[in-house]
This record gives sequence, structure tokens and C-alpha cells, in this order.
Amino acid sequence: MVRVRFAPSPTGYLHVGGARTALFNWLYAKKMKGKFILRIEDTDITRSTKESEKLIMDALKWLGLNWDEGPDLGGPYGPYRQSKRKEIYQKYAKKLIEMGKAYYEIYEPGNTEKPIKRTEQFPAEEIKNGYSVVIKFRVPPGTTSFRDLLKGEMVFENRYYDDFIIIKSNGYPTYNFAVVIDDYLMEITHVFRGEDHLSNTPKQIMIYDAFGWKIPEFMHIPLILGQDRSPLSKRHGATSVDHFRKEGTLRDALLNYLAILGWSTEEEIFKVAQKVEEFYPEKISNKGVIFDYKKLEWLSGQHLR
Ligand code: GLU
Repeated sequence: MVRVRFAPSPTGYLHVGGARTALFNWLYAKKMKGKFILRIEDTDITRSTKESEKLIMDALKWLGLNWDEGPDLGGPYGPYRQSKRKEIYQKYAKKLIEMGKAYYEIYEPGNTEKPIKRTEQFPAEEIKNGYSVVIKFRVPPGTTSFRDLLKGEMVFENRYYDDFIIIKSNGYPTYNFAVVIDDYLMEITHVFRGEDHLSNTPKQIMIYDAFGWKIPEFMHIPLILGQDRSPLSKRHGATSVDHFRKEGTLRDALLNYLAILGWSTEEEIFKVAQKVEEFYPEKISNKGVIFDYKKLEWLSGQHLR
């Protein structure tokens, strides 16, 4: 059974790149009669907001990219929220310590630069005395590899990586740790996400390997670019799904446009339901694709006919 997810960090609006990632995951779930899961990655408590979470969920609903599952059984479903799963990540981090694959690192109050101690024993005394404690993953020697559906075999030398934090001093997990624990527990079979995460993937694979867990299929989707070929951002024009929604850009036209953007296809105009059967992830262009506002406008006209 195919299980995919869209895992936004609620630190802003849903931009067209995120919508395209969500769409590809959703299309694949529909095609394979699998499940599409929404997971809010809100463990960065200083940057995550409820407003952003609502903006993202409203935009997904407007696009019709509904999710199939969540912790609130009986529906309306979900989403999963990482901030509600803190104990789970801590439990798995402790397992790694027991396995000798992670350790506590202790810092004097107010000094996050230089640790005073590393230990595998729970530092109860230091915590009581106000010291900061993080849990770090011990990067093993050797190489880390995985196969990307678009990019092929990727191999990384572990010696270029330092031991990295998996549980922060506030008790919350870091992104790389939470994402692996959740993708494992939620039985995610395919991870389709933006290429900007490619540099994180080796760290995630190291964590899978440490637990001896099966690695899902990975596909890193090339980014959407502006006319000048730099990653699409506000300076190229509006990028939020909300903007297009308010502008009156038809939902169908936007989905249509995001789907043909970098996806080799014969027809240009279609309803997204038609595309479900024809969606092959490996057919997505493996180069960055340029966002063309005029083309989107033209498609809106076509959909109005
Ligand atoms: N939370 C990450 C982001 O919003 C995505 C994580 C992932 O798909 O692995 O960029």
C-alpha cells in the first residue's frame, strides 16, 4: 500500500512550490489507491504559528488536495502535528543512546558554544542545576547512500558530517530526526519533496541505518524558478496560493499549470482528475522549471470557456 505525505513547516503561507509538491504526492496516492497524509512540522516553536497552519490547510482544501488520515479517528481527519509527538521522539532518541549511537551533550547555563561533557548516562544532576542538555547523533564512519527516483544513486562520505543534534535543549526534536521517526511510524513508502532537502537526506538515511529500518523511496523535485533562473521568490511576483485564490485564478487552472510545469505531457489543458492515471513520478523533469505567470493566465482563460 502506497503511503505518501506532505509535511509543511507552518512558518508562512503555502507557496506554489509547496502546492506542486503536495499535488504530486496527492496524485500518486490517488493513482496507486494509497493514502495521502498531512503532517504539520511545527517543532520549531519560535517560527511556527497557528495562523500559518490555517493558511496552509485552507489553501490545500481550496485546491482539493484533501488528506486521508490523521490522529483524530472518525474524521474530519488530522492532520498529524509534530508538536504533539514530543515524547515519541524522545523515546527513540533514548533508544539510540542505549544502542551507543547517540549521546547527551551538556553545556553550562548560557554557554551554547562549548560543551562541558558528553555522556551516555541520563544527566539528572546537571538538568536539576540548570545546565542545557542536547542529544547528538554519532555519525558513523563509512559512506551513506540512497537511490533517488529522479537523480539515481547518491553516495555521500560520512567524514564530511559532524555529529548532529537530534533533540534540542528545549526537548523538541530537530527536523532531520522528527522526519525519520514519523516517516517510519506512519509507514511512509515514498518521500517526494523539494530538492532543497537533498542535503538533509544523508543525515536521515544515517538515522534509518542506525535503527536498521527500511528506507522509503525518495524523490527530490527540482525547484520552481523565476525568469532569471533563481529559485522563485517574492521578488519575482506573487508566490502564495492564497494570492491566486484571491485573484480569482481558477483552482483547475492552477492545478493544471502546476502539473504541466516540468512534467512531460502531450496535452496542455486537462482537469486534474484526468491526470491521476497518467502520473508517473519518474517523468517529472529533473531540471528546475520556470514559473510563467502569462501561461497561468492563459490557462485560466481556457478553463473558463
Ligand atoms: N517540513 C519541511 C518543509 O516544510 C518538509 C520536510 C519533508 O518533506 O521532508 O520544508
